[in-house]
Amino acid sequence: MKGEMNAMMLERPGQPLMYRKVAIPQPGPGELQLRVIACGVCRTDLHIVDGELTAAKLPLIPGHEVIARITALGVSVTGFCTGDIVGVPWLGYTCGACRYCLAGRENLCEKAKFTGYTLDGGYAEFMVADARFCFLMPAGYQEATAAPLLCAGLIGFRSYRMIRPEATRIGLYGFGAAAHILTQIAKAQGKQLFAFTREGDTAAQLFAIRMGAGWAGGSLDKAPERLDAAIILAPAGELIPKALKDVDKAGQVICGGIHMSDIPSFPYALLWEERSVQSVANLSREDAKAFLQQLALSPVKTQTTTFPLSQANEALRQLRSGQLQGAAVLLINGH
Ligand SMILES: [Zn+2]
Ligand SMILES: [Zn+2]
Repeated sequence: MKGEMNAMMLERPGQPLMYRKVAIPQPGPGELQLRVIACGVCRTDLHIVDGELTAAKLPLIPGHEVIARITALGVSVTGFCTGDIVGVPWLGYTCGACRYCLAGRENLCEKAKFTGYTLDGGYAEFMVADARFCFLMPAGYQEATAAPLLCAGLIGFRSYRMIRPEATRIGLYGFGAAAHILTQIAKAQGKQLFAFTREGDTAAQLFAIRMGAGWAGGSLDKAPERLDAAIILAPAGELIPKALKDVDKAGQVICGGIHMSDIPSFPYALLWEERSVQSVANLSREDAKAFLQQLALSPVKTQTTTFPLSQANEALRQLRSGQLQGAAVLLINGH
């Protein structure tokens, strides 16, 4: 496809995205040209637009939760056909040669590129992507409602896989897009989920219970029993000492976000007894493959609020103010 397309562009951090007409990108060697069906709006997009993450290419088309149909194949692409529906996640390129890539930790690649951050993403009618980092979406996950799986779902899943398998009582701190997907997967595996939301947000607490959490309360509430692990999905550093208080001996506190406010100081006693705090960075292609396989075993239903492409700023505003339940999705060439 050639010609012009509409795109939402970040021209200066801290300013709203601009609705622009730009040339449809053409696929280079190894790349796919994609007609975007839908693109999820992730909290990371907020951190990029607000300038809290500072390595963005400019101008930038954000968006890294993409469901799209292939419109053209660059030379030497194998394994895909025009018309296939693929998902495009945050990880957009790795070098394959640095010590992290060679050690099977491509999520930490020294030369990694990221969709919608250092590469143009899916807040547009078309995009191109390195075919090696695109995934054929399984049946049942080819619609706009699958978009949040590509980051909220994947990062939640990678965070969850960091937890020792014998852990059964798991706290989720921040109950948005990632938590509502993860709750369904973890519940299907027999885990007990404890959801911590913003103080007084009873709507989010009821949402958590509906998704399968056994208990839901405010983030300052004491956990009703000692937890084996905690996953923090809200960008609030003060949740780390709180989660350490909630977990039992050897409890793990996993931080799923890319950006967080400063962590207040806390007594060593909270970390004592082999409790740990760990961050989760990016994802690997192996995570994506395992996650898509998991979706086939235990189906997940996402709850989405859709916006037209031109309303991306409004979607970001609603995400920032915490008024969304589940995930925001830009509906671009979908229906
Ligand atoms: Zn590398
Ligand atoms: Zn994301």
